[in-house]
Amino acid sequence: MPIRQILTAPDPRLREISKPVKKVDDELRALMDDMLETMYDAPGIGLAAIQVGVPLRVIVMDLSDSDDKPEPRYFVNPEILDPSEDMSVYEEGCLSVPDYFESVDRPSQCRVKYLDYDGNEQILVAQGLLATCIQHEMDHLEGVLFIDHISRLKRDRILKKLKKEQRFKKVMDEDAPTDGLLQ
Ligand code: ZN
Repeated sequence: MPIRQILTAPDPRLREISKPVKKVDDELRALMDDMLETMYDAPGIGLAAIQVGVPLRVIVMDLSDSDDKPEPRYFVNPEILDPSEDMSVYEEGCLSVPDYFESVDRPSQCRVKYLDYDGNEQILVAQGLLATCIQHEMDHLEGVLFIDHISRLKRDRILKKLKKEQRFKKVMDEDAPTDGLLQ
């Protein structure tokens, strides 16, 4: 299962709206396997397909403690149903906005309708971290990042720093030796 490259902000692809999946087949399951592997490797607790450059409505997640048995979750074409009026606040981070964490308010509970790994329809009642995480990942499907929920001033500052870091990284990569010795 190959590990895929995770896009980081301000990559414009992260602003795309993802398309519904037509069929849960082996090709899609291969994508979900890759996404899960990529997420564990990062490491992170959730990943949307657009974060690896695939604009499809697919999310993988695992909220188990690192010492426990893995509990992978797969959501295809997820929809949020009846989000609660009461909100909870979590310090959120994102593999596409590396090294930045900000508090975000979201409904503390919701139901999620989705297709699972085998293409069967499921409904899940989500609360706590699971509710926050699924809503964070759902945002990715609409081209929204968690930093869109914070003040514009803070967001612009983060994006500016990320852009600068990427430019620096690109220069370093170009300067790296290209002979076979390092392979
Ligand atoms: Zn994210």
